[in-house]
Amino acid sequence: LRHLVLVLGDQLDLDASAFDGFDPACDAVWMAEVAEESTHVWSAQARIALFLSAMRHFAEALRAAGRPLHYSRLDEAGNHGSLAAQLTADLRRLQPQALVMTAPGDWRVLQALREAARAAGLPLELRDDRHFYATVRDFAAHARGRKALRMEYFYREMRQRHDVLMEDGAPGQPRQPVGGQWNFDADNRAAFGADGPGVVPPRSRFTPDAITREVIALVRARYADHPGRLDDFAWPVSREQALQALQTFIRERLPDFGRHQDAMWSGEPWLWHAHLSAAMNLKLLGAREVVDAAVAAWRAGHAPLSSVEGFVRQILGWREYVRGIYWTQMPGYAELNALEAPHDLPAFFWTGDTPMACLRETITQTLTHGHAHHIQRLMVTGLYALLYGVRPQQVHAWYLSVYVDAVEWVELPNTLGMSQYADGGLMASKPYAATGQYIRRMSNHCQGCRFDPAQRTGERACPYTTLYWDFLMTHETRLARNPRMALQVKNLARLDTAEREAVRARAAAVRSGAVA
Ligand code: FAD
Repeated sequence: LRHLVLVLGDQLDLDASAFDGFDPACDAVWMAEVAEESTHVWSAQARIALFLSAMRHFAEALRAAGRPLHYSRLDEAGNHGSLAAQLTADLRRLQPQALVMTAPGDWRVLQALREAARAAGLPLELRDDRHFYATVRDFAAHARGRKALRMEYFYREMRQRHDVLMEDGAPGQPRQPVGGQWNFDADNRAAFGADGPGVVPPRSRFTPDAITREVIALVRARYADHPGRLDDFAWPVSREQALQALQTFIRERLPDFGRHQDAMWSGEPWLWHAHLSAAMNLKLLGAREVVDAAVAAWRAGHAPLSSVEGFVRQILGWREYVRGIYWTQMPGYAELNALEAPHDLPAFFWTGDTPMACLRETITQTLTHGHAHHIQRLMVTGLYALLYGVRPQQVHAWYLSVYVDAVEWVELPNTLGMSQYADGGLMASKPYAATGQYIRRMSNHCQGCRFDPAQRTGERACPYTTLYWDFLMTHETRLARNPRMALQVKNLARLDTAEREAVRARAAAVRSGAVA
């Protein structure tokens, strides 16, 4: 055997760089289902099922393509339980001359595989992941010499370099963003009116086939105590299904994607979002083909520029940016806790059992589907953890466990950096701190909730609002130094000593579980 090509559960792309020069006469592919990947965090059942089903479908695709495959199933006798241990055992048997792989997405996995290769005395060739527009080197070059990193500047560079949504400017001038502006954020923040979102297109559903049903039974038997549910599992698990989900999104949701991107509504988990993150993170879909499809829809007059630019920014901007942060900051990044948050994650994050309607809705939906949209993650669960002062590593473990699209390179910077400000402002210029009034404005969750977001103390005070003022008091000195927070901190002056004490007392009651 010349090359053993290692393929991980989030590298399910027949055209990945690992396959360049693949010769079925002398090379083979290695894939392994191992328990460690489902248990190093308390992974939700839907997340485990998605990975295993997608891996088994990809194995079929490899066989159909005539690529010899060594595949270990989780339920096989003698499975070694971790990627490194399984690889070590298989190397003894297969005796390849070298290992080849597309660079993995996880720092932890890279270390483990490097160590296994070293111990076996074999070279491990890591190839750039072509799925992404930018290499980690590109990002590092962008970051070099900058005091602060801001997504917006990186995104503009990416638009220019990859010529996405650009057009000719005046003669002799560089190419310009189409529509004359880089960013349509201001058009993309509308709440729904009192009548709600109206008719939302149904979510793309993929009925579990025999492979997925087998995996679901396996997960139910083996991981019965893991969070989440499987009875509504309908995610795309193959390249064909992922392509179908992409086409349906472009046709039915993209035209309305932008306007209500930040809005939430009870009983409406899907809205006009793409629900493509899991398929993209598993590499069932290429980032370029997703962006290209959205841009083509705008060119064809099918979707407005504000929606298309908003969508492209999430992928060409945010997704690439967080990956750059991850790979230039790890491993220290995972340990950061700039605000010295000391508390444990409230237990209801694992059950949804709380009287706060917004959290109940978001967490229940998360456990049912393994999905919540960005503002639910950032401004409901994330905001609560930030204001409460949960240790960022516990928040990180929760997000990595419960979402079907959760892989560390994208989850960690979003959680630790954007949502918890645990990196002290490397990723976001200020903490996303707000009272319950933000949730009232952007959703209907507060109607019928027993808490009132306008009140910070008293029996009906919304815990978000109480904890918001408590957060400002706790971090007053630090936040006052941040020009983008100065106005918010200044409002603290309106609170006299008695009011401050009342906020403190109520915040303590919230944290003790006496309130919610
Ligand atoms: P859409 O809203 O339709 O967006 C389109 C695509 O853009 C997504 O599919 C995704 O690929 C990309 N995208 C959008 N926002 C981001 C972002 N902030 N960072 C990176 N890519 C983005 N996304 C993950 O893929 N995996 C995670 O584990 C993850 N964890 C998160 C944790 C927190 C605390 C927060 C605030 C956000 C997290 N996100 C994560 C980003 C975002 O919430 C999801 O990508 C998005 O909700 C997925 O749903 P969608 O496909 O319908 O996205």
